[in-house]
Amino acid sequence: MSGGAQFTKWEETVRNGGILIYDVGSTASGWSTAISTAETRFNALSTALSLKVKIRAAKPEEKASAHILVAAVNGSYTFDRGKSIPPGTGSLPANGNKGATEYKATTDGLVRAYIFLPLNSKHGDFMKVVMAVHEFFHASGLHEHSDLAKPDIMAETMMPSGPDKVEAGVFNSRMMPPIWMSNETGAKIANCWS
Ligand SMILES: [Zn+2]
Repeated sequence: MSGGAQFTKWEETVRNGGILIYDVGSTASGWSTAISTAETRFNALSTALSLKVKIRAAKPEEKASAHILVAAVNGSYTFDRGKSIPPGTGSLPANGNKGATEYKATTDGLVRAYIFLPLNSKHGDFMKVVMAVHEFFHASGLHEHSDLAKPDIMAETMMPSGPDKVEAGVFNSRMMPPIWMSNETGAKIANCWS
């Protein structure tokens, strides 16, 4: 979070559980299908690469204490960072190409992540799933993006290319296999959960 750290671990009790519970706020109802698919894809990657973290939607009684809050925004947003710390702020255009993940942390690690998505994304369903999976992996604690020479789901720049592909990183002629993760990125996430 500070000092150029490329990841922040969740607090130990969360890490020990190996589950991040997310809640999709009412503003993000237009994303609910994409997010549900993103959960499936996230968990499949987690299994394949032994990432040690899975995600699932909050049950009604878990909403208030969910680890990850998902909201859709039109412009500026704020998020709680804890007592006696000013709220964090950021901004996303409503029809933008990207989401954002923000964090609340204590000295023991992350205690909450906030995923912000554009309110009126013009993207098709597949790209929305890609965007959601990308932000969920940020929410798992990894701040950095994948190497430009080896773009995967954590590439900093991804653009849709037809209904079921995206172009990633500097290799604009290279089609990224749908929702793929390199072993290198997987090792970084597993490290956040060890
Ligand atoms: Zn990112």
